[in-house]
Amino acid sequence: MKSTPPQDVEIWNVGRFYINMAAVAWEAGKPLVIEQVEVAPPQAMEVRINVKYTSLCHTDLYFWESKGQTPLFPRIFGHEAAGSPSLIVSSKPNSIVESVGEGVTELKPGDHVLPVFTGECKECRHCKSEESNMCDLLRINTDRGVMLNDGKSRFSIKGQPINHFLGTSTFSEYTVVHVGCLAKINPSAPLDKVCIISCGVSTGLGATLNVAKPKRGSIVAVFGLGAVGLAACEGARIAGASKIIGVDLNPNRFEDAKKFGVTDFVNPKDHQKPVQEVLAEMTDGGVENAIECTGNINAMISAFECVHDGWGVAVLVGVPHKDAVFMTKPINFLNERTLKGTFFGNYKPRTDIPNVVEMYMKKELELDKFLTHRVKFSEINKAFDLMVKGEGLRCIISMDDD
Ligand code: NAD
Ligand code: ZN
Repeated sequence: MKSTPPQDVEIWNVGRFYINMAAVAWEAGKPLVIEQVEVAPPQAMEVRINVKYTSLCHTDLYFWESKGQTPLFPRIFGHEAAGSPSLIVSSKPNSIVESVGEGVTELKPGDHVLPVFTGECKECRHCKSEESNMCDLLRINTDRGVMLNDGKSRFSIKGQPINHFLGTSTFSEYTVVHVGCLAKINPSAPLDKVCIISCGVSTGLGATLNVAKPKRGSIVAVFGLGAVGLAACEGARIAGASKIIGVDLNPNRFEDAKKFGVTDFVNPKDHQKPVQEVLAEMTDGGVENAIECTGNINAMISAFECVHDGWGVAVLVGVPHKDAVFMTKPINFLNERTLKGTFFGNYKPRTDIPNVVEMYMKKELELDKFLTHRVKFSEINKAFDLMVKGEGLRCIISMDDD
């Protein structure tokens, strides 16, 4: 199954395309198909990277299922990954092909990078603001299937374009990414572990540390104990929370959650009354911080309504159904509760993510406990099955099948 690009000399001669294997989603909810896909050379400010490891995040699953999201197919999903700008030495004379596009100065073949679904151009008012990571140019766009430079895809099968996903499309041996969506990291960091920093871990960790900002001794509730929610728990542990209450509909989550410092577990299904009332009773009026990591609108409302009046702060992280509407009584705000939301835990990918990798290298942040499964690229559909069944946390997909 594994290919060694370039395979097709004719295409090689005309356009420095790579022929590689990618997992293509042809239809919503149908198993991905490993196909030979042509990957075009990078254009200005783009980099063609060799993906070494990728994992599956629930956002991939939502858009693949397309139940509450705009369908866009065929598409190459994947956004949580690690790789390296490629350098290919072909058997043809004088043909060493670098995959770093015009204007890219800070990356070279062999560097280690984490692709990120939301970018940092470093020039717009958001990138210059200390508050925001919502870059004007490269902020997350779930409905775009093309690259910004020319509005076209870099992937095709016999001339048929295949859509990108989140500007990353990491379910492919090679992918083209805007340089502003690539964090250059410590080359000694193990890519099969730090790949989960490229989405889930940073998102949950940052939602707690950068957005909710719990004070030492706070009580923190986390809704949804998948990898994102447990990374939020990891943030609460690092911030010195006195109690971490995990809320999940899946009772099997609690065992794993204990390893992340979760002290109490609440399953909304076990109670007659709304879970926000259960939490208020457990905590003498409400929690200091609630972090929602489910994507479910009712969990979002409960997360807001379970924070203490006067000082409570809730943070929404889950990606909602596109038509979902948040409803709560305005008095909940007047009573001095705060509601916030965040993409990617408010981290700026290029500026901040190398430091999150350093937190792991210094053993301040633990990653091994998130890594519950490992599959070969040819078995990528197994990773989808596991997430659909709610089994395990992160499944690492190794692109090198050998
Ligand atoms: P996951 O599927 O591994 O975990 C989600 C957990 O939520 C599951 O354990 C599930 O049982 C639980 N859950 C679902 N509905 C619930 C409810 N009503 N009440 C309590 N628990 C409930 O998913 P993940 O990969 O950890 O992602 C979590 C969410 O974060 C998803 O919505 C994903 O799309 C989103 N996400 C957001 C960002 C961002 O930047 N904002 C980034 C990555 C992921
Ligand atoms: Zn993600």
